[in-house]
Amino acid sequence: MFAGKGTASDNFAIADGLEYVLGRLAATTYRILDLPGTATLATISPVDVFIDRDGAYFTTPDASGNITLTLPATGLRLTMEAQAARALMVLHELGHQLGVLFTPDAGNVGLNEANTRRVLEGCFTIGSDGVWR
Ligand SMILES: [Zn+2]
Repeated sequence: MFAGKGTASDNFAIADGLEYVLGRLAATTYRILDLPGTATLATISPVDVFIDRDGAYFTTPDASGNITLTLPATGLRLTMEAQAARALMVLHELGHQLGVLFTPDAGNVGLNEANTRRVLEGCFTIGSDGVWR
């Protein structure tokens, strides 16, 4: 199931980490509601995430199936496949839920954008068409 160095201990370490991440995702309740301010998603606790019903998460994709997101600090516009854009948002919140790498960024658009860019650049690629996927 796992590729890597090929030892049983490597596979155990990968499975152990994966179980931790998947367990947190499975335990999470995602609530769709009206979020005040400009937040699109908010991690309320390690197992509670709020999603703004009018936020970017529910943006209707264009005819190509893409969504354009605007990063809050620089105004940089990202065109992403809709599913990738939603994954980016969920993974950003997962960073908060797991308490690794991310520090709280509520009300700090610069840090929020930096956290988003870490996920974007670590988990997605940009195609020659300029679309992130
Ligand atoms: Zn954040």
